Amino acid sequence: MSPRRITVLGATGSIGASTLDVIARHPDRYRAVALSAFSDDARLFELCQAHRPRYAVLVDHAAAQRLHTSLRATGLDIEVLAGTEALCEIARLPDCDTVMAAIVGSAGLAPTLAAVRAGKRVLLANKEALVMSGDLFMHEVRTHDAMLLPIDSEHNAVFQCLPRGLDTANSGITRVLLTASGGPFRTTALDRLDQVTPDEACAHPNWRMGRKISVDSATMMNKGLEVIEACHLFALRPEQVEVVIHPQSVIHSLVEYLDGSLLAQLGAPDMRIPIAHALAWPERIASGAARLDLTQIAHLDFHTPEPARYPCLALAHDALVAGGTAPTILNAANEVAVAAFLDGRLVFTGITALIADTLAALPPQRAGTLDDVLAADSAARRIATGLLAQPRRVRAR
Ligand code: NDP
Ligand code: MG
Repeated sequence: MSPRRITVLGATGSIGASTLDVIARHPDRYRAVALSAFSDDARLFELCQAHRPRYAVLVDHAAAQRLHTSLRATGLDIEVLAGTEALCEIARLPDCDTVMAAIVGSAGLAPTLAAVRAGKRVLLANKEALVMSGDLFMHEVRTHDAMLLPIDSEHNAVFQCLPRGLDTANSGITRVLLTASGGPFRTTALDRLDQVTPDEACAHPNWRMGRKISVDSATMMNKGLEVIEACHLFALRPEQVEVVIHPQSVIHSLVEYLDGSLLAQLGAPDMRIPIAHALAWPERIASGAARLDLTQIAHLDFHTPEPARYPCLALAHDALVAGGTAPTILNAANEVAVAAFLDGRLVFTGITALIADTLAALPPQRAGTLDDVLAADSAARRIATGLLAQPRRVRAR
């Protein structure tokens, strides 16, 4: 059997690194044919030397030129492409059968959709793409017969607990329970939250991740986005998806059935497990992750999330119920708010305020086409950026 050929979108990120680690453990089964990044040409150069892909893409043109120059000196035969359209080109390469969608944020939508429309096996880490385009995205998956496999650890856990993959019709599911660690501020005094720093917000207790998703975990917007993601992936109604705080991150999510059975997936908090699962599905391969020693786990705790500590959960739930472009607006405002927080332009509690104010300023519309989604995304970014310039509107609440 010849190795499966894989494009890794977002190769220089945290999920990109875990993906390339699993691929390197199985050179007989997998080969990276294309790698992408935004502007980190130094890291992409190292990855090109280690994995020798056919194509390397950098969105930033100057960074692409630097990579081209460094690679020429090595004699490696790797074509360097630049710009956003090149991301779509490597996502639909005839020479690739699997695409890891691991770009962070809405920038991942176009290339992930390109992979879907080319009927690839799509390993979906980039939850923002699905959240912002929901029904349209899933419609494209069905139309183009793409195979969508969830990488998000909770959704991968749910997938592993389902009888027939993403097809949940008549499977007797009553509820899905998404577990959440509660993030770094689970026990922080509420009146201190407007003083926490970006580094404190990114110090996740259990997972090592990129900075945007780490902040999303601290606000729990990550879980809010995951509730929306779960409804689309598994064709569930909002009331069928619940969030449970489980600080140990041992159980990655659960599915409850009509007969009262509750199926769970457990494992070390290591993204190589869901990545290896999705790469090999329906087979299994080694991931390199540590084994879970149940005798070392003193206890497993579960709590209901406090609404006052995690107001983003309610914002995401309401956007899901409102439908149309509301999740797109939510996602765009969150991206603007998180970037501002990471840059020191917004306090932590201002993230929720900015998202709420953007949603209030922009009533949702029908999301009938991709153009509707992209227009809502741009409008929400414009409004959120404008609100950011008015400090009184985004002060801590
Ligand atoms: P990182 O920030 O670590 O990596 C992001 C990657 O995307 C980098 O390769 C970066 O390139 C690239 N990138 C950033 N902006 C753009 C852009 N505008 N256009 C093209 N490429 C871009 O993120 P993570 O790996 O943590 O997360 C990736 C996705 O996976 C997110 O959607 C996240 O929600 C999801 N996810 C992540 C998990 C994790 O454990 N990390 C768990 C579950 C889901 P460069 O390095 O050049 O900036
Ligand atoms: Mg997750």
